[in-house]
Amino acid sequence: MDDVIRTAAKIVKDSISTIALTGAGISVESGIPDFRSAGGLWTRYNPEEYAHIDGFRRNPRKIWKMIFELMDMTRNAMPNPAHIALAQLEEMGLLKAVITQNIDNLHQRAGSKNVIEFHGNSERLQCIYCGAEYAPEEFDIIDEPPQCKKCGEILKPSVVFFGEMIPHNALMESQNLASDARVVLVIGTSAVVYPASSIPHIAKANGAYIIEFNLEKTVITPIITDIFIQGKVGETLPKFVEAIKAL
Ligand code: NAD
Repeated sequence: MDDVIRTAAKIVKDSISTIALTGAGISVESGIPDFRSAGGLWTRYNPEEYAHIDGFRRNPRKIWKMIFELMDMTRNAMPNPAHIALAQLEEMGLLKAVITQNIDNLHQRAGSKNVIEFHGNSERLQCIYCGAEYAPEEFDIIDEPPQCKKCGEILKPSVVFFGEMIPHNALMESQNLASDARVVLVIGTSAVVYPASSIPHIAKANGAYIIEFNLEKTVITPIITDIFIQGKVGETLPKFVEAIKAL
């Protein structure tokens, strides 16, 4: 494994344009479960119902029960060594941007500056009817869904539910970064949720090198991954950054 990490480190050190695509797996070691974690939030709330905009529209009060838990969990979570390793890589001038599917704000809290929020951020609230945005602190959110101060409708977190469009700027910027990238680090994502899953494919079609960090192989591993680094990202990413520093 150390040899594989050293090879990947050399490729990134020599690359003029490296980006990262991160998924729920990078935050599992911060205590936020991915869709598979045993006993996690998503074993109690079926994401097909609770993370779909139709479910929210049908019964927002019911979905807010899950949102209260999610917001509580993300608010209390801390960045882990994997988030910190990516912030260091950016600081070293070796990472152009992090495109994240996560909504937990942990990259920003770890110090990453250029973060593209592909699926929004749970630390903002938005009215699904008039679009007005609010900070959660503006409301006394305890167990009743907050209401829009302009039109009175129920707010939702400013995250992209299944069935909703990706924010235009995030989509365009990510696709441009992917086209220009020489290396993509694909980190803790099952790479199945479209269109985020298209990012490494766009990059590969333009000649990029794909380095994947995951506990287990994914759908892209046999198809486009050049180097697969297996293990907990809280361990493998700091090792990878140390290997770059040692070159
Ligand atoms: P996913 O749950 O489909 O896949 C997570 C991947 O991470 C898996 O391949 C798993 O093997 C890997 N993984 C888990 N723990 C790991 C670890 N410690 N080290 C290395 N790899 C690990 O997640 P996804 O691909 O991001 O797609 C699911 C969707 O769910 C995304 O759209 C995302 O917005 C949303 N989501 C976000 C959060 C969050 O914000 N933290 C949490 C759950 C779901």
